[in-house]
Amino acid sequence: MILLGSDTETKPTRAMRQAIANAEVGDEQKGEDPTVNKLLERVADLLGKEAALFFACGTICNFVAIKTHTRPADVVLAEHMSHIIRAESGGAALSSGVLMEPIASERGIFTVNAIEQALARVTTAPYLYCAMPRLLCVEQTHNFSGGNVWQLSELQSVCEFSRQKGLATHMDGARLLNAVVASGTSAKNFSSCVDSVWIDFTKGLGAPMGAVLAGSREFISEARRYKHIFGGAMRQAGIIAAGCLHALDYHVERLIEDHDNATYLARSLSTIEGVKVRDTNPDTNIVFFDVSQLGIDKGMFLNLLQQHGVKMGRVGQSIRAVTHLDVSRADIDFVVDTVASLVKFLGSAAIKAERKDILQLENVIQFIPA
Ligand SMILES: *Cc1c(COP(=O)(O)O)cnc(C)c1O
Repeated sequence: MILLGSDTETKPTRAMRQAIANAEVGDEQKGEDPTVNKLLERVADLLGKEAALFFACGTICNFVAIKTHTRPADVVLAEHMSHIIRAESGGAALSSGVLMEPIASERGIFTVNAIEQALARVTTAPYLYCAMPRLLCVEQTHNFSGGNVWQLSELQSVCEFSRQKGLATHMDGARLLNAVVASGTSAKNFSSCVDSVWIDFTKGLGAPMGAVLAGSREFISEARRYKHIFGGAMRQAGIIAAGCLHALDYHVERLIEDHDNATYLARSLSTIEGVKVRDTNPDTNIVFFDVSQLGIDKGMFLNLLQQHGVKMGRVGQSIRAVTHLDVSRADIDFVVDTVASLVKFLGSAAIKAERKDILQLENVIQFIPA
């Protein structure tokens, strides 16, 4: 099975498992795990922040960061298709009691003008009546828009504007290193725009667990309390951190291969009649396409594809394919051939006339986007 559902589908390599097996460990909760501490130092340095904190996953980094930056009833501004708004089970409302104000954008990258409009909506009523805007969130790369990269100047302008308006700034950097590799801008430069930022080790970096949140010493010290409250404290977490350190050593520069494979996939799919690719030149490793012209339900299309050895996912009205280190160029060729034969099969007269049943919705794969 070729797993393109998400870049979280990677399995730890043999070398990574070896690093995990050999990890020195201690009590993470007390700040005494040497491997975790090494990882935190390394990521704080990579992101140019004073301090960092280790988490099991990225979702809790967002919760803890939002909790640390806000008070209940504050307003958090985030792009309308951001992971924080669309894919975290409403967690910011639960953990922080905040209101989310969606910022409009076409491709995940919004402008100062869009923030101004969002702020104007929030502060329509007199001071007594309006909730207080407190935090701006940005997503690098922007997942549901197709892994789009914020250019440094774009990021600088929205963050600078937000700071002038008294907002704190937070970056969901689940795929920040994809943006670094794609743009040539350093992680430090990107994260210098924001007060807090985290990176995920379970996406393109290929580790089984782990995310690191970074910020000022004061921010991290308070975030540490919330991490503890939310059940995020660990003990011998060095066994996870070792996989993350291994990923930093061996899986960052190679992300360019995933980007090349995504572009190759997007271009190849776009040559198949009836397949509409959203962007044939994706910034990073995420490809979106649409098969509605074929007159088949997306879930059924995915189901048939999976029966032929290719797993993809669904986000909204589109199909999403994400490349990663367990997918080779030859795999992409196989995927394109499989989609092409499926499309041909669906377009054949026999199917149209006699096998309408195959187009019925049944056993549709439930897809949870990551
Ligand atoms: C995957 C993802 C998250 C959540 O990270 P997990 O490690 O899966 O909890 C948050 N934001 C974005 C943009 C993501 O892609």
